[in-house]
Amino acid sequence: MKQYTIKTLISEEKLKERIRELAKEIDRDYAGKEIHLICVLKGGAYFMTELSKYITIPVTIDFMAVSSYGSKTVSSGIVKIIKDHDEPIEGRDVLVVEDIVDTGFTLSYLLEMLRDRKPASLKLCAMLNKPDRRIREVKIDYLGFDIPDEFVVGYGLDYDQHYRNLPYIGSIKPEED
Ligand code: 5GP
Repeated sequence: MKQYTIKTLISEEKLKERIRELAKEIDRDYAGKEIHLICVLKGGAYFMTELSKYITIPVTIDFMAVSSYGSKTVSSGIVKIIKDHDEPIEGRDVLVVEDIVDTGFTLSYLLEMLRDRKPASLKLCAMLNKPDRRIREVKIDYLGFDIPDEFVVGYGLDYDQHYRNLPYIGSIKPEED
């Protein structure tokens, strides 16, 4: 594996601080309820783990995996469900936890699909957002950070399956594929 230079965009401290704030917001908004988190794999895993640790209302978790066909750095708009959630969501307060909203294709597709399964409520929590890249409108109810149009890795986000384990978000300049 070729090594790339990675420039820190969001430090581990800043990430953790913001994630704790988001957990507080979620606690407040869902007070008296139980929340069902659905993590979008693999990128959302680190974010959901950290977030769920600081939510104090009752929490259950589930996982989904989707793939958007396309090259490593550009999504095509076609979304395929690789792994569906295990537990039914009808009547539950569902919060989808995603790593990053880029063009919006993945989330607009996923949220529409989940809405058809009749949850009591359905919201989105995204760690990162690239507003400049949006093609499909997606309402992000809880957002960590807006970032510029740069390809980022770390805290669950990969380049060619590497760098997910970096404890911070960094920008990387990949080779053209
Ligand atoms: P969208 O469908 O919103 O264009 O893309 C969403 C997915 O594309 C994310 O869940 C993520 O897997 C991938 N993606 C978009 N931007 C980046 C990025 O800067 N870095 C990485 N590693 N993945 C990204």
